[in-house]
Amino acid sequence: MSSSSSRPGLRSWLSSNGRLEFCVTLFSVTLLTGACVALILVPRNVGPLQLATDEAEVLETSEVIDHPRLSPVRRDLQPYGPILVREVAAGDADEALLVAHPSHRADLDVLEAQLGPAVSQVSAVWGTEWNRAPVVVVAGSPAEFIALTRSAGISAAADVAAVSLSGSYVPGTRPTDQRIVFNPDARRRLGAEGLATLLRHELTHIATRAETVDGAPLWLVEGFAEYVAQRDRGATFSQIAPTLTTRLRAGTVPADLIADADFAGVDAAYAYESAWAACAFLADRYGPTALTTLYKRLATGPQSGAAQDSAFAAVLGASRAELLDGWRAWLRGRAV
Ligand SMILES: [Zn+2]
Repeated sequence: MSSSSSRPGLRSWLSSNGRLEFCVTLFSVTLLTGACVALILVPRNVGPLQLATDEAEVLETSEVIDHPRLSPVRRDLQPYGPILVREVAAGDADEALLVAHPSHRADLDVLEAQLGPAVSQVSAVWGTEWNRAPVVVVAGSPAEFIALTRSAGISAAADVAAVSLSGSYVPGTRPTDQRIVFNPDARRRLGAEGLATLLRHELTHIATRAETVDGAPLWLVEGFAEYVAQRDRGATFSQIAPTLTTRLRAGTVPADLIADADFAGVDAAYAYESAWAACAFLADRYGPTALTTLYKRLATGPQSGAAQDSAFAAVLGASRAELLDGWRAWLRGRAV
């Protein structure tokens, strides 16, 4: 996923229109990680939350489920046929709403089973002060995916696995109208395990949105989301970061933290893996709490190199050089 900050044109479009903030995830990234999941069997980490579900099937577009939060989604979905709606209690005052057409019922089954554990896993890192009742939609077709995400200006729908959107908000307060939209092909291309990983990644963006201002360093925004998505999965380093592993084995180590511009280019998969690896290292070396503290400090907007350096010193007690040296040694030890 890349946030709007990696696309200046899009960011200015959003600003000028005052529209939804958003994040997207590219298939090119998650396909690589998703391709590995068939190799391992990870025990399901079922969280402590009780799942209570209630399904209502809408067979006529004139029939209405009385959920104000559902109205904008229903407007986009119902022209394409009947929809299924499932309510999932995941610990918040409201229920999360899972929505798809009957053709994607299997996707809803996966998301319904995974939402509670995913919310628990995000909360384990971030705490519980976030909107744990988003609207989660599986688009039924590329056209529908575009309709559901048009406020984010997505054009290359086939390459985007999922999008998280948040309505307008005042920084520091809880965002409203938060929505995750999955590409219709996401489960087919990523598998159920990949879909669950993607859900955790997107939920992390939902959780952190209130404290994340556009322009924040992407290595931290995307790396943190992927760290949370991967941390309980039990996958190996090379399974999570195959491109990075290949380069490390060839003797190439990162010269610096990955730059924002690299998330939008042809090397996006490497950028996401590198960002994940940076955050995984920070959590491993300094602890998950320090990583979260660093996130909250640096996600407040664009950060100069000097501002990042002072955050490293204040939060981690390390200079950039010490951090990078430690990271490179950590990477070398994992790419054998
Ligand atoms: Zn992302």
